[in-house]
Amino acid sequence: MKITILGCGHSLGVPVIGCKCPVCTSDNPKNKRLRVSVLLEINGINIIIDTSPDFRQQMLLTNINKIDAVLYTHDHADHIHGIDDLRQFNALQDEVIQTYGNIEIMTAIKKRFAYAFNDKPNSGAMFRPAINANMLPEATLHEFTVKGINIIAFEQGHGKSTTQGYRIGNFAYSTDVDTLSDRAFATLAGVECWVVDCLRYTPSYSHSYLERTLEWAKRVKAKQTILTHMAHEFDYDTLSAELPTGVFAGYDGMVIEI
Ligand SMILES: [Zn+2]
Ligand SMILES: [Zn+2]
Ligand SMILES: [Zn+2]
Repeated sequence: MKITILGCGHSLGVPVIGCKCPVCTSDNPKNKRLRVSVLLEINGINIIIDTSPDFRQQMLLTNINKIDAVLYTHDHADHIHGIDDLRQFNALQDEVIQTYGNIEIMTAIKKRFAYAFNDKPNSGAMFRPAINANMLPEATLHEFTVKGINIIAFEQGHGKSTTQGYRIGNFAYSTDVDTLSDRAFATLAGVECWVVDCLRYTPSYSHSYLERTLEWAKRVKAKQTILTHMAHEFDYDTLSAELPTGVFAGYDGMVIEI
């Protein structure tokens, strides 16, 4: 499995518009963070998690011309607003794009982007995406397959709402999370690579922060824990020097093979 970090930034992205802080004005390319998303390539099957507002740019930076599935974590704008650019994949693949998420998430996305989900394939002029919403009936824990690939969706706390974490083989993705249940930890047991929310140094009401994410990493014991959804408080080099063995700051374009 090849994992590509398409974006590891928080909802505003880094640099933040108008911000003159040392990280936002840094020349280090690893301090440039698009909104969070990840690409998984597994035996010719391409799975994307979320369609961020930077989705078009992220797709231009990869070589893929086919998306077999989009898994949605939740309906916050920084995770879904690139959805319209799926229409180019309709054209490339000549088929409806399959998306997955629990009923609550997919209902919210369908409501906001109703025009993209009228379940009729595009024909002729390509003005809108053609997307199929696969609703996962159980939000707390649900197992399903995409073209033979086994995927487990599990529930995570995100402030007053919840998000879906995903486990695919020995990889797991936990963005936008501030609490994890014992059940979620049981689902994460044995993962080799875990990409996990770490907003900043100080606590947040809906995201994990450095101290908490490092505690979780000790419990999950993945060979590689990769931090994501990072704000401009984190300078890549400073943060990297502070992290224990096996924990890494993510950066856009990072590739991990497991
Ligand atoms: Zn987010
Ligand atoms: Zn800044
Ligand atoms: Zn969120």
